Amino acid sequence: MKHFLLIANWKSNPQSLENACMLARALEREVKKIRGVEIVIAPPYPFLVPVRRELKKAKLGAQDSFWTGGPYTGDISPEQLATLGVKYVIIGHSERRIYHGETDSLINKKMKAVLEAGMSSILCVGERERIGRDIPAIVGEQIRGALREIPPRLYRNICIAYEPVWAISTTPGAVPDTPENSFRASMYIRRVLADMAGKKNSGSVRILYGGSVSQMNIGSFVRDGGVGGALVGSASLNRKTFGEIIRIASRAR
Ligand code: PEP
Repeated sequence: MKHFLLIANWKSNPQSLENACMLARALEREVKKIRGVEIVIAPPYPFLVPVRRELKKAKLGAQDSFWTGGPYTGDISPEQLATLGVKYVIIGHSERRIYHGETDSLINKKMKAVLEAGMSSILCVGERERIGRDIPAIVGEQIRGALREIPPRLYRNICIAYEPVWAISTTPGAVPDTPENSFRASMYIRRVLADMAGKKNSGSVRILYGGSVSQMNIGSFVRDGGVGGALVGSASLNRKTFGEIIRIASRAR
């Protein structure tokens, strides 16, 4: 059985290098104490190297990547990230779709480039509003768009994070999704993948949940959410809270 995967998405936090290194050191101490959980810390770009120096057991993640290197001012290529020791790259986060207008076709280019550079990619998908009980078709469209023409042999390096935007803690009025719904979402995502690339390839993709994950709900997502991991935003910025999330996830396995 694969380890439960916990990704700490720090977004554009903290604001100083000193605080980033302190937080990384503290999280690494928590990670060392537990088993059965794989931890990835995704700091902002400028802190990747100093944070990597603080990590032994936890792996290094990036929050985005451009799809190539060259004359693209301000962009970071997958090859550059790979040389820094990045193992996982978040692609298509809702904040990038909303604030930077990222389209499924751009996300598809990024996915291909990250996988070809030998890293794992964490594709974020999710609807903006909840309408009824069914998982909306937009989730399937985002997956089909992002994975277009990606060879199924690379599926084992793909994680898909179901992150309904209404559940992300920074969305006004956010509420975490229920484990029952994340279970339904994970079944839905598997069906979409199986239609695209067959059941075997679909089974090699790790499905995660993200949206207001905390020490209060992580246990139920591990046990009943039908997911192999979680993407954690705000709660990963607090050493004690994230430490507790890690311990609960490890015990609930
Ligand atoms: C996120 O933005 O990816 C996220 C999951 O944030 P939070 O845990 O704060 O809802």
